[in-house]
Amino acid sequence: MKIICVGRNYTEHIDELQNQRPDSPVLFSKYDSSVFYCDKDFYIPDFSQEIHYEVEVLVKIEKTGKYIDQKYAASYYNKVGLGIDFTARDLQNQLKEKGLPWEKAKAFDQSALISRKWIDKSDLNLEDLNFSLLKNGESVQQGNTKLMLWKIDELISYISTYFTLKTGDIIFTGTPKGVGQVHQGDVLKGFLAEEKMFELFIK
Ligand code: ZN
Repeated sequence: MKIICVGRNYTEHIDELQNQRPDSPVLFSKYDSSVFYCDKDFYIPDFSQEIHYEVEVLVKIEKTGKYIDQKYAASYYNKVGLGIDFTARDLQNQLKEKGLPWEKAKAFDQSALISRKWIDKSDLNLEDLNFSLLKNGESVQQGNTKLMLWKIDELISYISTYFTLKTGDIIFTGTPKGVGQVHQGDVLKGFLAEEKMFELFIK
């Protein structure tokens, strides 16, 4: 499986990192070795002093597709989850400054938290779906899919122009504003609609 992530998909998050608004979706990938579930704790890696959480809505691809037309994109997924795109922001800023690829800052081991729980898309309103992240009981990120620059079906169509999507692939659809640093001892809880999707301990 592969993980395709979308960057800069929420205006207010673009502004908080002082990035430029893109003309087309910004894509990057993570590896199968990036994946982890909340059954384990998250260990802050030694190579970064600034690991950020980015809560994101996830989509699981359920059949193979290439050049998927937007109007058929919905038939390629049924399940929606929640995850965190962990980012070594200090490393990413260094790489961005030099115009180098982001992989070391984005695809390191454990950088892709994926909920065990998935919700049928028929049980959700994907056009107006709330999601949030709590850090130590305090709400730090609140998003809604209606604020996405590119909606899920547009993303699937766009991504499949470049990369064949296969069963089991997961799309991270971008983070809303409110990203921030994790510290040892933090507890992160993610919610999709009203459902608690994960609870995670930072070590
Ligand atoms: Zn992200």
